[in-house]
Amino acid sequence: MNIAIIAAAGAGTRMASDRPKQFLLLAGTPVIIHTLKVFEQCESINEVIVVLPAAESAGFLSLAAKYGLRKVSRVVPGGVTRADSVRRGLLAIRAATAEIVAVHDGVRPFVTVEEIDATVAAAHADGAAILVGPVTDTIKQVNEQRIVQTLDRAGLRRALTPQCFRYDVLREAYQNTDVTDPSVTDESVLVEKLGIPVSIVEGSPRNIKITTAEDLAIAEAILR
Ligand code: C5P
Repeated sequence: MNIAIIAAAGAGTRMASDRPKQFLLLAGTPVIIHTLKVFEQCESINEVIVVLPAAESAGFLSLAAKYGLRKVSRVVPGGVTRADSVRRGLLAIRAATAEIVAVHDGVRPFVTVEEIDATVAAAHADGAAILVGPVTDTIKQVNEQRIVQTLDRAGLRRALTPQCFRYDVLREAYQNTDVTDPSVTDESVLVEKLGIPVSIVEGSPRNIKITTAEDLAIAEAILR
């Protein structure tokens, strides 16, 4: 059994809006529903756990049913950080049946079925695998107002989601983690710290994270 945890409990403070960004409408449908529809179509995913702001949790299962999202099995109230929210999603998984856990940002609706299936397959083979995107800008390491060095972008990737792990690997990664640590911005960093190799699957730059009002406008343009 492979389970997706969709982290969608952010408050959306960077978006000038009274609703969290995952609930804003994209072509008339909430962003989170676009994201869940992709997971619904994945052969590699059996069950989906959605982590939401506590205030949005009640009634979400019936909304999901309205959109024909049959894989959504649980709605879990989120925590103070993304890592805290993912940890809560992880605690809702039944250990006996779990094989691969795919963690995905609710605000990345443009991930494809092929990208999810390929990342889950890589995690099956290697234990840990994440989707990555190309780096097209030249990246500078800086200190205060000066450049320290220029990094070779051929050897750099942007960490996207899904990030997929064997259940026991992800449980161990979260075991002794301070989920309030701001440097924990993805799951991979925790698994890397355990010394476990993490494979990469090359993904598309279209898999953007809708964080600002500008991103929402870009997302509308991508859909058109
Ligand atoms: O804030 P950030 O850009 O890291 O958010 C990435 C994803 O994590 C979003 O889908 C957001 O809803 C989710 N998140 C969460 N719980 C939080 C903060 C963010 O599930 N406390």
